[in-house]
Amino acid sequence: MNGETSRRNFLLSGLAIPVALNSNASFLPQAEKTKATAALTYRPLGKTGLKPTSVGFGCMNVSDKSVVERAADLGINYFDTARVYQQGNNERMVGAALKPKRKNLIIATKTMSQTKEEALQHIDTSLKELGMDYVDIWHLHMKDKPADLKDELLEAQQIAKKAGKVRFLGVSTHQLPAIVDAVIQKAAHFDVILTQYNFSMDAAAMDAAIGSAAKAGLGIIAMKTMMGGPRMAGRGAQGAALKKEGAMLAALKWVLKNPNVHTTIPGITDMDQIDEDMRAFAESFTDSDQKILTAHLREIRPLYCSMCYKCEGKCPKGLPVADVLRYLAYAEGYGEFQLGRQNFLSLPAETRNVRCTSCTECTIKCPNGVRVAQRLAVAQELFA
Ligand code: SF4
Ligand code: SF4
Repeated sequence: MNGETSRRNFLLSGLAIPVALNSNASFLPQAEKTKATAALTYRPLGKTGLKPTSVGFGCMNVSDKSVVERAADLGINYFDTARVYQQGNNERMVGAALKPKRKNLIIATKTMSQTKEEALQHIDTSLKELGMDYVDIWHLHMKDKPADLKDELLEAQQIAKKAGKVRFLGVSTHQLPAIVDAVIQKAAHFDVILTQYNFSMDAAAMDAAIGSAAKAGLGIIAMKTMMGGPRMAGRGAQGAALKKEGAMLAALKWVLKNPNVHTTIPGITDMDQIDEDMRAFAESFTDSDQKILTAHLREIRPLYCSMCYKCEGKCPKGLPVADVLRYLAYAEGYGEFQLGRQNFLSLPAETRNVRCTSCTECTIKCPNGVRVAQRLAVAQELFA
């Protein structure tokens, strides 16, 4: 892998930690897994001086503290949470797991606040819940348009940084190409970008945006690496087969091919996922992985919105299509029903009350093949 500056051999046998070597080993009983030596890889996170492991840990859906602890024991050093995850409870669990190992870890959290005052309350709450004096990275969460980078939110970040509550400042986005120039213009303020990045997206546009940001000295962290969440791979018989064949691992390896991606935060919820993701440290992306991903994409394309926003503003009834489909993905892909519903219920009543089943024909033709009206109807039935 390019861009990696250091490696250390991690003697798993000494720590009694199994790592799978063959493509199906993570599905074998624990006793049958091969003990071996694995190398962790690190990449410099832009200009921050931090060196995260190339595979980090997205904590959004994990509720088992021992899973987080084990990842840290294995050497994964980058952990991502947010004030909003699990109705505010995720930070507390992550903090309980990682506080004893805090010194060697990079901890990131986020705020979805729209005001300076609320953002500053959020960072104080985040630190209290994590049980920590500071976080390494504090993101403004889900900023998809330049106008979302409001001065008062940037001011809140600076206040928190000056107070020693955060070390580096970040922004998370599902729309990097739309926002990257604005972030680069503020590169004296921002240190890192957390961006959606996976094999389903327009690779040319994404790679160009990521390349520009990396060139400007910004650290790049990839989220939604597994396109819609681990559970999307398990839908139906074909999906289950794809999961077994390693679609999730292939997706992670696809992201790591890009040397401008400095770390990744695949969502991890159990020990098997840790074992599987650990293999991405050592294995390269292969033709066989590409075949698996192509088949996987065919399977979930009608279900999964890649949030390209090409349909933005095209629903005559004003539905924010990509947002509602994302809420559905929280529920179906990540098993986070409450997060999905909470977001849906925060929409204005006139939007919440729209029913796609009352349209004779949907005006939105998704260029990526998502069955928009059908999927939105599922979300409306589920959340309203
Ligand atoms: S529904 Fe289709 S066009 Fe609309 S944001 Fe999703 S992938 Fe893009
Ligand atoms: S079916 Fe739904 S998304 Fe399509 S036009 Fe009607 S209200 Fe809008």
